[in-house]
Amino acid sequence: MKRLTICGSTGSIGISTLDVVLRNRANFEIFALTAHSDVGKMAAQCRVWRPRFAVMADESAAARLVAALSADVPETSVLAGAAGIVHVATHPDVDYVMAAIVGGAGLVPSLAAARAGKRVLLANKEALVMSGRLFMDAVRENGAELLPIDSEHNAIFQCMPAVDSSAGVDRGVRRILLTGSGGPFRTRRLESLHDVTPDEACAHPNWSMGRKISVDSASMMNKGLEVIEACWLFGADPDTVEVVVHPQSVIHSMVEYEDGSVLAQLGNPDMRTPIAHALAWPERIASGVAPLDLAGASRLDFEAPDLDRFPCLRLGFEAARAGGSAATALNAANEVAVGAFLERRLRFTRIAPVVEATVAACAGAAEPGDLDAVLDVDERARARAAELVVAAPLVAPAPSVTSAPSTMAMPQ
Ligand code: NAD
Ligand code: MG
Repeated sequence: MKRLTICGSTGSIGISTLDVVLRNRANFEIFALTAHSDVGKMAAQCRVWRPRFAVMADESAAARLVAALSADVPETSVLAGAAGIVHVATHPDVDYVMAAIVGGAGLVPSLAAARAGKRVLLANKEALVMSGRLFMDAVRENGAELLPIDSEHNAIFQCMPAVDSSAGVDRGVRRILLTGSGGPFRTRRLESLHDVTPDEACAHPNWSMGRKISVDSASMMNKGLEVIEACWLFGADPDTVEVVVHPQSVIHSMVEYEDGSVLAQLGNPDMRTPIAHALAWPERIASGVAPLDLAGASRLDFEAPDLDRFPCLRLGFEAARAGGSAATALNAANEVAVGAFLERRLRFTRIAPVVEATVAACAGAAEPGDLDAVLDVDERARARAAELVVAAPLVAPAPSVTSAPSTMAMPQ
């Protein structure tokens, strides 16, 4: 019986994790659940799961949760704030921590879980992108286990040599082929991208996800972050990571070996597969995901990514190659820009320029050596990106249909 803390239990990944645990109740016990401020969802989860702790990052939400639970769930203690999340992510009675908070807010608890030597199921890619080597060192130095939940990285993990996947580049691995669907705007008229709404950006063709990662998928910044994530997880050079657009999202990524073999992991696009894999590894358990119907899928397509359409992917590669604090600044700027886009304060096509200018202004050659250094770059980049958002014109000039179809050159 493994005891599990789910950080971000009310989100898309958190809910899928609870669904997998429900199917495997003999193997897992919910120790703690954490969320930001959705008291209604958290109270409902506590009534079903009766965890030892429920944590609300928002203090007033914690007070409301106490009021909502006191009579009917006496076994659950309610904690508040970031310190409460760290408490349940590092508690000695916890075996596994699902890191499924979205964005930089997940860094401190995810890193703390690694430092406490837990099995960390990492969905919160932003934490690793921000802190890179610091995170990987924490895993190694504290005997933690890091299992990727991101479907591509979970697929790569499954296709890597069985022993020590972080040494994969030295074990006959030639390339990592990172697949991505291309999101909802893969074929949309380039000139119309400046007008897309948050709901259009969040309407992913294959995956149902939280709004931040949905926008990242539409801009392909998600794939840029995943390039950086793959480099850290698998000890890979950015030049050995290739992005392949695969609209059907049936192949979740591939590993190519020196002898020409290419191993792929396939499955329906449902996050319960990587979640079940990481929970049970090296065993296998039921996930509730329907069997893959290959004849029904009938075809699998592949194409090279269009870096003019998706400048955020280019920025991800550039940050991976630059090293230093580029990825930390990139992630921070992107979170600010995506947040502004979702609040209709920034056009979709301005996300990449805001990120690019922020990285140029805030990234340095030195790798942040400790958590404070990471948080310092993060804070400065967020402040700079926020200034750039305010300065960006919201009203777009009429698109010029005669101009070359380049996203960077199009009217913004
Ligand atoms: P989501 O928005 O659905 O859920 C986010 C969770 O984090 C919620 O429980 C929310 O309460 C909590 N949260 C938000 N802000 C917080 C804060 N400041 N402090 C504490 N908790 C906070 O997001 P999601 O789609 O479940 O994604 C979660 C993470 O998993 C992201 O890093 C995302 O990139 C990654 N991921 C998601 C998917 C997917 O299919 N949804 C796939 C791969 C990776
Ligand atoms: Mg992914």
